[in-house]
Amino acid sequence: MASPIRVTVWNEFIHERSSDVVKSIYPDGIHAVVAAALREHLGERVQVRTATLDEPDHGLSKAVLKETDVLMWWGHAAHDEVSGKVVKRVQKRILKGMGLVAMHSAHASKIFRRMMGTGCMLRWREAGERERLWNLAPGHPITAGLKEEYFELEHTEMYGEFFDIPPPDELIFVSWFEGGEVFRSGCIWRRGAGKIFYFRPGHETYPIYYDANVRRVLANAAAWAAPSGAPYVGKGRNIPEPLSPIANPLESHDDLHGAPPANRATR
Ligand code: ZN
Repeated sequence: MASPIRVTVWNEFIHERSSDVVKSIYPDGIHAVVAAALREHLGERVQVRTATLDEPDHGLSKAVLKETDVLMWWGHAAHDEVSGKVVKRVQKRILKGMGLVAMHSAHASKIFRRMMGTGCMLRWREAGERERLWNLAPGHPITAGLKEEYFELEHTEMYGEFFDIPPPDELIFVSWFEGGEVFRSGCIWRRGAGKIFYFRPGHETYPIYYDANVRRVLANAAAWAAPSGAPYVGKGRNIPEPLSPIANPLESHDDLHGAPPANRATR
């Protein structure tokens, strides 16, 4: 049997401790419920650990990231409290092949915005309205096991377009909301050797992560985002010796790639 996918579910873990409403829905934290969904669907194919903001290094030390194939990210109230050093470390790991699954309000997290390079802002409304998620990729591993062309969540927080993201490499879900908006709810990008999936459903005051379809998609996404393919070569490589002879080469000015000349005019 192939070795299990090592998933780290990260949660800022704030509202579940500060708000009675959130505590009543997620008494052990959203991370615990997401972790349970992965175990439920993937069984021995997965090895799940959790990490939270208030741990040293937010629970994302070099050693933990090295042993993480897929990082699932939940944050809402404390995006700014995540240290830049850790974000940089996570970005490096993603480029080298670690998967990232950004859930719901993680659209505004430092790591997601860093990987996207755009603001990642959107419209929202908290009115407990119906959401219908249309499956745009029926043959994709992330939608495996969904029974219908769409699934619905009865009470949700609305997220609407324009969602300020780079065009996704693949669009997996689009949401319709009762109040009129639409939203790109399931999006894929590749960065370096890493796979990124943004999945909209969530919100701390609704029991979204107990929904059977949402749990299935989260588990599918974790399995899909695991590293695959060839090793990542991300550094610049100067190859002065060509692989085959160049018949009529020009003189090299490769020295210009180094430090600027000392006598360069400065303003
Ligand atoms: Zn929310």
